[in-house]
Amino acid sequence: MRIVRSRYLPPLRRHAAINLFGVFFVHPGVHVSERLINHERIHTAQMRELGYLPFYIIYLIEWMLRLVMKDNAYLSISFEREAYKHEDEPDYLERRKHYAWVKYLKKKNIKRKKKRKNNKKHKGIN
Ligand SMILES: [Zn+2]
Repeated sequence: MRIVRSRYLPPLRRHAAINLFGVFFVHPGVHVSERLINHERIHTAQMRELGYLPFYIIYLIEWMLRLVMKDNAYLSISFEREAYKHEDEPDYLERRKHYAWVKYLKKKNIKRKKKRKNNKKHKGIN
């Protein structure tokens, strides 16, 4: 992965780094950890399998749809969920299946169901 130090990318100061078409732009002074590199490598794998431009289109659409939902829109994006879940696994990309991010489109619903079920148990409803 090519890492480029830039004062101008990402454009917003609150973001430390951005992956554009497999090139990782980082503000000067930002620590680039193995975890961060692995996170961005997962995004690059997602981009490659989708043909880059569709990745950004889907990412943007999903982010906009999730803005109206209850949880944090950015962290709820399926691409981010896969990357955050596996960023601590250096060998993840070796065993990752193509389009693995797709299962994270639904994963939240499964979690919510479990949470609801637990809440019911907590309240004694069943
Ligand atoms: Zn990410």
